[in-house]
Order: sequence, then C-alpha cells, then structure tokens
Amino acid sequence: LSERLEGAFKNLKGEAKITELNIAATVKEIRRALVDADVNYKIAKEFTDKVKDIALGTKVINAVSPGQLMTKIVKDELANLMGGTESSFNITGNPAVILIAGLQGSGKTTFSGKLANYLKSKGKSPLLVAADIYRPAAIDQLMVLGGQVGVEVYSERENKNAVEIAQNAIKEARAKNKNVVIIDTAGRLAVDEVMMTEVANIKSAVNPHEILFVVDSMTGQDAVNTAKAFNERLDFSGVVLTKLDGDTRGGAALSIKYTVEKPIKFVSSGEKLDTLDVFYPERMAQRILGMGDITTLVEKAQAQYDEVEAKRLEKKIRKNQFDFQDFLDQLQQIKKMGNLKDLMAMIPGVGKAIKDVDISDDAFKGIEAIIKSMTPFERSNPDEINQSRKLRIAKGSGKDMTEVNAFMKQFDQMRDMMKMMNKMPMGMGKMPGMR
Ligand code: GDP
Ligand code: MG
Repeated sequence: LSERLEGAFKNLKGEAKITELNIAATVKEIRRALVDADVNYKIAKEFTDKVKDIALGTKVINAVSPGQLMTKIVKDELANLMGGTESSFNITGNPAVILIAGLQGSGKTTFSGKLANYLKSKGKSPLLVAADIYRPAAIDQLMVLGGQVGVEVYSERENKNAVEIAQNAIKEARAKNKNVVIIDTAGRLAVDEVMMTEVANIKSAVNPHEILFVVDSMTGQDAVNTAKAFNERLDFSGVVLTKLDGDTRGGAALSIKYTVEKPIKFVSSGEKLDTLDVFYPERMAQRILGMGDITTLVEKAQAQYDEVEAKRLEKKIRKNQFDFQDFLDQLQQIKKMGNLKDLMAMIPGVGKAIKDVDISDDAFKGIEAIIKSMTPFERSNPDEINQSRKLRIAKGSGKDMTEVNAFMKQFDQMRDMMKMMNKMPMGMGKMPGMR
C-alpha cells in the first residue's frame, strides 16, 4: 500500500502546481488505499472526488511540495468527515443510562467492562447490568469483568425478560446511589428481528441517555450494513469501534460515519480493560491512510531531492556555471523555507540592520517574472543576453528596461562574488539558501 502511494506521490514531486493531470494518479491511488482499508468503494470515490476539487482550488504555497499539500488535504478531509472535533458523551442523568447494542462477538460485554472502568476513573460510580438473557455464560463474563474493575454487576439469573431486568437495575442503582447504569445486551450473529425488537423495547422502557452501537472494525464492509440496520431501529447516539488492535486499517470508521452520520465515541484496541480510548478523528485518518508512512515518505523524497540538487549546484558554482535557472531554483528553495525577512535575519549581523526595512516577498516576484520570461537558452547562458533579448524579456515580464538591467547587473555581481569565493581556500562557504 505505502509503496503504491509512494509511487503516486512521486508523480507530484517537483511539480509546482496541482493540475487535473498531475493529480489524476494520486487521486486514483488514494481511492485504492481507502478501499484497501475497507472503505466502501462508493464512499471512497465520493471522498476522493471532493479532495480533488479542494486540491485543484488550492494554490501550492511555497512552504510545501504538491505531494505534501495533497497529503495534508486528504488527512484533513478525512478527519473532517469522521467528526472534526471530539463528540460529547452524556452522563449527566441520575442515574445516566447507557444502552449497549451490537452483534454477538462485536465486543459489547468487554466494552461494558472497559467503560465502567473508564467512568470509575473519572469519579463516577457505575452499575453494570447483565441483560443478555440467552447465555448464562454472558452473565459470568460480565461478573468477572466487573470484579476486575471493582464495579458491581446487576443480574437476575431466573428472569427471562430483558426489559424487566433493565428496569429493576435502574431502581437498584437509585437505591445504591449509582450514577451511571451500563446495560449490556444480547446480540445475535446477524441482524435479526427478535434481537432488534428486544433492544428497541429496552430502549423505550428505560429511555437511555446514550445508546452505543458496538461494532467490530475487522468486519470491514459488513459493518456499514449492520450499522444501518441498528440505526434504523434504535437511532443510536454513538458508535464504538472495537478490535482496532488487529491489522485492520479502520476504514469501517469512515464508512459508518459517512453512512449513518453518527459520531464515533470510543475506540477499543485490546482485551485488556485499560485499552479504551475516546475517538480522535485525526489519529483515525492517519491510520486509514497509513499516513505515518506516507508523510515520512514524502519528506524523505523531498530531502533526497534537495540534497542531490544542492550537490549539483555546488558543482556548477565551482565551475563558474551558475545561471539564471539555478538562480530561479534557489529563489524557490529560499521561499520554501519561509518568509524572506525572517530568513535574512538569521544571517549573523544582518538581523539588526534590516529590522526596520520593509522586505516583502513580493520583491522576488519581479525577479521571478524576469527569469521566467527568458528562454531555456537564455537562462543557461547569461552572457548571451544582448540588448534585443533584454527588450523581449522586459516586454514578456511586464517590467521596464531599467528593472531588467538592474537585475542583470546584480546577477553579474553575484557571479563575481561566487568566483571570488571559489578562489578562497575553503571553497564556497555557507551561503544562504545553499544546503
Ligand atoms: P459480545 O458478544 O458483543 O459481548 O462480545 P465480547 O465482549 O464477548 O467479545 C467477543 C470477543 O472479542 C472476546 O473474546 C473478547 O475478548 C474480544 N474482544 C473484545 N474487544 C476486543 C478488542 O478491542 N480487541 C481484541 N483483540 N479483542 C477484543
Ligand atoms: Mg456479550
């Protein structure tokens, strides 16, 4: 996956502008990466179309390469889509009632234990409720978890009515001054009417403050359909994504959020009870795209490029072959590093001198325009630029002759200086912008 993306970003490396053409391959690869991460194809397509629109409308600012910019846009949009900011979790009732629903094996009981542990650490006093009436083992499982985190578990082994158990548990909570009630329900292997009706009945009987839909992130594409079915019946308030410790990239998070438009509130990544975390869209975005890899790759590629470029330039300066194209490249390098005045201020002795001088990056724009109006031949043969060529360059760049002449003169002086430095024993020292 990351190899493919590396390839895609290679297409962008060194390009100054994001265009329909140079973005096409990247968009395709991002879409493939999403599908690889279990994002539904239709959603992946809609997402990348949106990213493309944003990218095309974005100017490549000098500080980043188009590849880096694309990386950022994709990551930001992904995070945006999955929630933007953290969502709230309502535990203000007395007691606050939290209903846990989901398929069998999704991790409901484990999550209930983790949530109890989490809330306890926040100073709440929770009560766990075993409302899975079909498997006696389910009650035992919750008892064990409750014991591990030191939270009481309410159960009625003989009662086969989950609604009653839930109602009795809330009474018990009031009597015992528990301020959060976590109801762990039964699940089935697939969406099924009996299960849905039962959970829906509990919902109408206890009127929960939060209904959390628990889903196994490893189930990939299926997770979307399950989420849809549960949402239609329960109108849940949030999603819990479990088993993120597996090798899934978590594309389900994106698909579910996109499809049911409910926030993901918690993520669970392990069987241990302290492996519960609130959901951070940023982190999930990084995970879905394997962004850690991508960002480093893009940066590495860029650094390599810069290094090769610096060596090439050094050689040219040694041979007194520094030309306009090199100058333009350097200008762009400097701009990439940041604001011109800040950069100059870092040169010893210069900072103070230019404190009150107004140096705008616009000053460079004129020079850029002049060089860009030169033919490739002129750029690499500064000495061949005669009067008639100068006139044409002035016209092309919209500058007048005095400006063109002034720049040519400055350029000559710079080359003379380079020649002098070449004669010094240490070769060319550290000039600003040379790395
Ligand atoms: P339930 O049927 O929905 O109540 O699911 P359980 O809580 O019983 O979990 C089913 C299985 O998944 C158990 O073996 C759990 O230990 C395991 N499990 C639950 N959450 C996680 C998790 O975040 N990571 C991993 N690796 N396993 C989990
Ligand atoms: Mg269970």
